[in-house]
Amino acid sequence: MRVTLIEAGDLSKTKAWRLPPDAYSNRVSSITNASQEFLRGIGAWSYVDETRTGPVEEMQVWDGVSDARITFSASDMTSNGRPLGELSRLTENLNLQRALLRYLESSPGVELVDKVKVESITNDDREGNSWPVVHLSDGRVIRARLLVGADGFNSPVRTYAGIQSYGWAYDTHGVVATLVHAPRSPYGPQNTVAYQRFLPTGPIAFLPLSDTASTMVWSTKPHIASALKSVDPAVLVGMVNAAFRLPEVSMRYLHERLLEAHASGTSITLQQLQDEVRFREMSHSIDSNSALSSLSALGEPGIPPEGAESYPPLVKSIQPGTVASFPLRFSHADTYIGEGQGSRTVLIGDAAHTTHPLAGQGLNLGLADAEALAHCIHDSLSRGGDIGSYTSLMSYSRARYFENHKMLAAVDKLHKLYSTTADPVVWARSVGLEVLNELDTLKAAFMVSAGSHQVKSTPGQLGVGIAAQGLEALARGINDAKNAGELVSGVLQSGLRQLFRSSPR
Ligand SMILES: Cc1cc2nc3c(=O)[nH]c(=O)nc-3n(C[C@H](O)[C@H](O)[C@H](O)COP(=O)(O)OP(=O)(O)OC[C@H]3O[C@@H](n4cnc5c(N)ncnc54)[C@H](O)[C@@H]3O)c2cc1C
Repeated sequence: MRVTLIEAGDLSKTKAWRLPPDAYSNRVSSITNASQEFLRGIGAWSYVDETRTGPVEEMQVWDGVSDARITFSASDMTSNGRPLGELSRLTENLNLQRALLRYLESSPGVELVDKVKVESITNDDREGNSWPVVHLSDGRVIRARLLVGADGFNSPVRTYAGIQSYGWAYDTHGVVATLVHAPRSPYGPQNTVAYQRFLPTGPIAFLPLSDTASTMVWSTKPHIASALKSVDPAVLVGMVNAAFRLPEVSMRYLHERLLEAHASGTSITLQQLQDEVRFREMSHSIDSNSALSSLSALGEPGIPPEGAESYPPLVKSIQPGTVASFPLRFSHADTYIGEGQGSRTVLIGDAAHTTHPLAGQGLNLGLADAEALAHCIHDSLSRGGDIGSYTSLMSYSRARYFENHKMLAAVDKLHKLYSTTADPVVWARSVGLEVLNELDTLKAAFMVSAGSHQVKSTPGQLGVGIAAQGLEALARGINDAKNAGELVSGVLQSGLRQLFRSSPR
């Protein structure tokens, strides 16, 4: 097969990408075990510079309002009878892209065309149906037996194929940055724990890259994101440390101070922020030497305070030039395969679906799409079929559409569940999280969704060794948690019921 890959960007920059060992790009993805296995299987992962990646051995996720917490650990999982070393691996997108380009260089039959845009796509009747004809900005014209739209959220291929996509903007932006901190104390956990705190404005995630660097994704309202991006980096450091520690009511107050200053064209100073945080910590009776204080001496060596393992290390600074933000949205194409005038087209990755990054799944779903499509094309070729025909592509759609939908819907529900401060919902949510923490089956399902294979089988555990039903079980789990909450209380306010009943919108 002849494959042509068309990319508007400059791939030579990606191929030559290099950063000093202690500097990290701000676009980082959590690559699940399943995605790594796929990339290893095709021989691409060996090109990834693993020294720049950070394993996640444990995840701690908690509710910023009720403080209910759930912990997932790789040590609870086995794969083929062996303990799993990690839940996923934080990898800079450029590290992975560079690896894939190097891998493609060694693959015969693939032509890379970069710095060239697809300007338009027309169709041509041939062999009794419509073939896509791609017009490039360098004047070339390519007629394709199969046109794969891996062209992102604004997919020109999707538009050409006339495929509708439903979805909505989350009214949320993801602020990213590379965080610099002291190494963790040898007496506590190492920097292999991912932390995520759900604030009503959105979750903030701390994701480990090395002993002294981690990446952040802080999903928040667009006006807060804009204010956070405009402050002095030292103030942003203070806000990040507080966002993982201060009670939610005080975090809300800090946001208000930040926004007031932003609206008046000024910015809150580091001194003002520290005074506020000090006052707030005192009023919440937070000891300045405790793990909950964001003002305790940064990265002091020695025995960490009690409970330090429940919070990420205190951030000291932000790597210059790494603060950026991205609008977040939910979208899912009505179908992945073009028909009629749009025949011989198929969508994968963000062209087919986009999701909130709170579960770190967007790229992983795209990789799973690529794997399934490759299988589908292989099967079609081995049967002497036409790789661009609707019937050949059906198995790809069957393998991926509902799998993706389950994940997209579950992540969407989690986002909605945690973006409210309404008392009955917060109460039920804390019951839900605690119930989830107790139920091994559900916990296992969540972890399986992280790409792990099997949960350690010990007698008495519920649902040991469950297969990879991951997010379907999570979605059911939330429902079960809701039912458990109902049993415990006997009364659930209508707000929560509505939330669980509502469609993904
Ligand atoms: C803040 C944030 C954090 C995230 N964290 C994670 C995570 O931890 N784990 C995870 O799995 N996912 C994560 N994601 C999601 C992930 O980044 C995306 O799902 C993924 O990058 C989508 O890849 P894609 O190749 O499908 O699309 P894109 O990355 O959008 O690539 C599309 C490509 O098509 C090219 N293109 C488009 N139009 C044309 C044209 N006309 N001509 C030529 N070329 C064209 C573009 O140049 C681009 O290179 C995160 C997203 C955000 C915003």
